[in-house]
Amino acid sequence: MIYLVGSGPGDPGLFTLKGLRCLQEADAIVYDRLAPEALLRHAKPDAERIYVGKKPGEPTMPQEEINDLLVDLGRSGKIVVRLKGGDPYVFGRGGEEALALIEAGLPFEVVPGVTSGIAAPAYAGIPVTHRGVSTSVAFVTGHEDPAKGHHDVDWDKLANSADTLVLYMGVGRLAEISASLISAGRSPGTPVAVVRWGTVSEQRTVTGTLEDIAERVTEAGLKPPAIIVVGDVVALREGGLDWFERRPLFGRRIVVTRARAQAGELSGKLERLGAEAVEFPTIEIASPEDFGPLDETIHELDSFDWLVFTSVNGVEAFVERLGHHGLDLRAVPRGAKIAAIGPATAERIERYSLRVDVMPAEYRAEALLEEVSGDSLAGKRVLIPRAKVAREVLPDRLREAGAEVVVPPAYESRPSSEGKEDVARRLERGDVDCVTFTASSTVENFVRAFGKGEAVRLLADTRVACIGPITADTARGHGIRVDAEAREYTIPGLVEVVTDMFAADPVERGDL
Ligand code: SAH
Repeated sequence: MIYLVGSGPGDPGLFTLKGLRCLQEADAIVYDRLAPEALLRHAKPDAERIYVGKKPGEPTMPQEEINDLLVDLGRSGKIVVRLKGGDPYVFGRGGEEALALIEAGLPFEVVPGVTSGIAAPAYAGIPVTHRGVSTSVAFVTGHEDPAKGHHDVDWDKLANSADTLVLYMGVGRLAEISASLISAGRSPGTPVAVVRWGTVSEQRTVTGTLEDIAERVTEAGLKPPAIIVVGDVVALREGGLDWFERRPLFGRRIVVTRARAQAGELSGKLERLGAEAVEFPTIEIASPEDFGPLDETIHELDSFDWLVFTSVNGVEAFVERLGHHGLDLRAVPRGAKIAAIGPATAERIERYSLRVDVMPAEYRAEALLEEVSGDSLAGKRVLIPRAKVAREVLPDRLREAGAEVVVPPAYESRPSSEGKEDVARRLERGDVDCVTFTASSTVENFVRAFGKGEAVRLLADTRVACIGPITADTARGHGIRVDAEAREYTIPGLVEVVTDMFAADPVERGDL
């Protein structure tokens, strides 16, 4: 079975559920340049991934070869997904592929996709039809040269055939196309928008009229791929419909230095506000060298009065190790109390259906002591499964209060510098708007990855945002200027100060 699947215009969220189901089942995926690569991670790990799009400096694969490839894959009995940008039947040559499959006697299905000709305008604030403004829309290829004389697009007929014209592949010939439309009788003052990379964080829009749009696009240096919209609907954008480009972090590139496993929460929040998150994990979470001390506490878990978790990693590592011994959370003694530092830690514990008895109002180790001090700690046994190297304030203070504190390493965070060259290049080019630090260790490891002088230099021309005062002090201690410090020491708190910081400095809009 061969599925001809539309990937949507770029935003992975615009992929259809049916397309996703096909992708998850596929043994082979044949994809194009405009199909978002992010979708491929939904495929089976061993699925064959075949790129047939343009490669720099190489001729594109001829359509016949792609057809043959699909036929060969289909004949081998594989489930094949032919993933194409936007909709497969809108300037996607999907029809030709379907005909080749029919000729070969192979079964196929089509899964339509959201076409860029509708989605890119929508994300730029332009409805392609609008009551009282436009009652018709035509999708047109701009690929042909109107000056050549012999062509399939009849510009004279087309110019006034629909209120809204949506042109694909037309940026290179915008001047000729505009001239043809004007000479066919379309008013020179007709509003035009050119939307490049619609629906993704790089989206950029240039607006003008038939008369000046070509010049404006050249001035702005706008390159393909872009959708051109011609018609009065373009003016609606100015009425505030351009929600996508108005999001508070639109167009901002923000570096996330958390460990890969934890980066998602921060990256996701930033992306939902319009930013592009660049993950540069400076930390890698690994097992401790020696599980001995943790195992020992697990065997005598009954003797503990308090379980204190200081991070999500601590919770996960502890639960995983219980599992390793064939145990689960029923092993936690009934009378023991559970404390969590920070709401994320508490939330993770609660995910395992355990109640958190104490969560300090402030998300620092010190604050926990104040909360617990109501309970007499004298003679109580306290277990803190946490990172191998961590600040000693908490155990020390609990001991001073008379508790017997056991601190077995449950995990180890190691410095990582994966992706270092890429981040350095982006910082060097001035392509990064902000670097976030979510723990002192992320600062330390960032500095270690580049060397102190180089780290300070790379961060000099971007903003630096820290999750709290301790992290900020660590940064300043290395000579790094801190531009924003979260008021609430959490990921949402950090996102809030980053958003505030950029609100005071609106991004340069695409419009000229
Ligand atoms: N089948 C696709 C179109 C393929 S033709 C669809 O339905 O969207 C390729 C052209 O599509 C590009 O030259 C450009 O004009 C347009 N295009 C595709 N993705 C785009 C995007 N994200 N933003 C703007 N234009 C896009």
